[in-house]
Amino acid sequence: MTEALSPAPVRIRPEIAALPPYRQGKQAGADAFKLSSNENPFDPLPSVVEALQSATAVNRYPDASASRLRARLAARFGVSADAVHVAAGSVSILQQLALAAAGPGDELMYAWRSFEAYPGLAAVAGATAIAVPLAADGTHDLDAMAAAVTDRTRLILVCSPNNPTGPIVTQADFDAFLARVPGDCLVVLDEAYAEFVTDPAAVDGARVLAAGHQNVVVLRTFSKAYGLAGLRIGYGVGHPRILDAARTTGIPLSVTAAAEQAALASLDAEDELIARVAVITERRDRLAAGLHAQGWNVPDAQGNFVWLPTGELTVDVAPRFEDAGLIVRPFAGDGVRISVGEEESIATVLEVAASALSLLP
Ligand code: PMP
Repeated sequence: MTEALSPAPVRIRPEIAALPPYRQGKQAGADAFKLSSNENPFDPLPSVVEALQSATAVNRYPDASASRLRARLAARFGVSADAVHVAAGSVSILQQLALAAAGPGDELMYAWRSFEAYPGLAAVAGATAIAVPLAADGTHDLDAMAAAVTDRTRLILVCSPNNPTGPIVTQADFDAFLARVPGDCLVVLDEAYAEFVTDPAAVDGARVLAAGHQNVVVLRTFSKAYGLAGLRIGYGVGHPRILDAARTTGIPLSVTAAAEQAALASLDAEDELIARVAVITERRDRLAAGLHAQGWNVPDAQGNFVWLPTGELTVDVAPRFEDAGLIVRPFAGDGVRISVGEEESIATVLEVAASALSLLP
């Protein structure tokens, strides 16, 4: 469109002007399944709805530090409340930490392909992005990442399970990696999908922190397993002085009282949430097994999504899902990420995937 091509009427930092603006995945029509944003397909829990209805003091600013929620999360992790930071989605904390740790001349490293927001973080912070290719099986190549560390590396992002490919980083590999990273380099362990992990070998952020790694911040979110994506609330756990820096670069008062109330209600409803997660992981494993049986080389799926490695054929494969009423997330030249959603969507995903096999060489 000409609008996108014409220059801005004011001077924009060139590295920002070069970035594509965030565009949300397609919204689903009434008869389509939205499997493009790794959301939770279940309706909010009744206790969450109730908590939202009772959050009435909207004429007042919220508690800026979300102190009640921080206290609850701190108790779970066995840390002090100032070792927990709550923000409007874990993506906010990613940006706060990037701004705090990696400026111009510094390097910000991540595996690629991984969460789409990572490259933009480096650009916004003015740092240099170092993208280290994933191994062929969709796992982090932590050896290559450790080898790529320089004295300018200030922030390393490790995503487990990796969005969009699905595999975890093992505890053993993460420990070995940390041993090779200088202690003054911040390592963020992005565990947005931690609650869906069923592989016991997976890294566990709580364990990493308990082992005393002071340069690690663990990120979790209420958007996925807890089903609160629309309320925007996530958290980080780590050294209080690192989180103070995130609090400094963050916009104050972004977490609404309603979001905090709903997160507290979700923590109270832990049993129901664990049961829902079990339903999703069962669907995930069934879907992944079905795709494997068809001959797809699907990487180990440990989040609430599966990855179809369609490579150059992605642009041909993706419309087939849409035609069948499934909104999925294609990454051109690479693959298609399909969230694990409603039970009724599973059979259609498998049917479309089977038909798409004929397109492959
Ligand atoms: N990290 C990863 C790996 C993600 O996939 C996402 C969401 N897609 C986020 C962080 C951000 O989640 P939120 O801001 O909703 O907490």
